[in-house]
Amino acid sequence: MRWLSWLKDRLAGGPPAIPSALWQRTMSRLPFLAYLSDDDCLRLKSLTEQLLAKKSFAGVKGFELTDEMAVPIAAQAALLVLNLSLDLYDDLSAVIVTPDAFPIRQQVTDDTGVVHEWEEMLAGEAVDMGGAVLLSWPDITPPESCDERSLHNVVIHEFAHKIDMGRGGANGYPPFLAGFHVRADFLDWPQIFGAAYDSFCQCVNQLESTLPEDFDPDHLPHAARYRALTASLPMDPYAATDPAEFFAVASESFFVTPATLAAAYPGIYRLLSLYYRQNPLAGPVLV
Ligand SMILES: [Zn+2]
Repeated sequence: MRWLSWLKDRLAGGPPAIPSALWQRTMSRLPFLAYLSDDDCLRLKSLTEQLLAKKSFAGVKGFELTDEMAVPIAAQAALLVLNLSLDLYDDLSAVIVTPDAFPIRQQVTDDTGVVHEWEEMLAGEAVDMGGAVLLSWPDITPPESCDERSLHNVVIHEFAHKIDMGRGGANGYPPFLAGFHVRADFLDWPQIFGAAYDSFCQCVNQLESTLPEDFDPDHLPHAARYRALTASLPMDPYAATDPAEFFAVASESFFVTPATLAAAYPGIYRLLSLYYRQNPLAGPVLV
């Protein structure tokens, strides 16, 4: 198994360095990182090396995780905490990459107390209470892709959940860090996020009200119709699932399609810019 072979070259006193050619390939595969300054890129590389050294990255079910795969995953995880602290991932036990989408048992109790259970195929999952981040390799944004999937970023999504879990379960209200955040900047977080979430849910509900009663999102033609129907939304309609998903999807949009997020929800863009201490629209002015 060619598992992070350069780890074998570990130098005493620090994490092993990612070879510069591999790092260059990583940056070119993640074009949305173009807003980072040269200094930011150096710090991102250092954080990525620390993350790879501190945490276990592994493939499962026979999937061989190579350096070419592990480094971009770690780099995107490091991006979220570039101007914060890797301590936000203290609760992360491992990063596990699967060869395909994986089934997870879901459970919800409705208003009448009836428990509904079903199995759902997921592209990623962040497990709280010291758990891992699981990622389906085919669902990780492919390089050089310009299709709609490139607007989604399951890596950023799941690591945003992991950060959100710093207060306990994910609820769209991540922990604020002394020394990095000014509490007064976030007093209106619940109101701004709450209003944006409600507004987004209304948009999604309005679109979905036009669907026929026998609509089945797992039926391929229906899924294509749903994508076309919701293409006008500023974010993936999955953000309407609950406030935790709204925060994770908004975080994806903040880094990958920041102009779209800022145009649709300027208040959310402002708060995420203060939270992540980055400004993908205008460069690294908050360092
Ligand atoms: Zn999610």
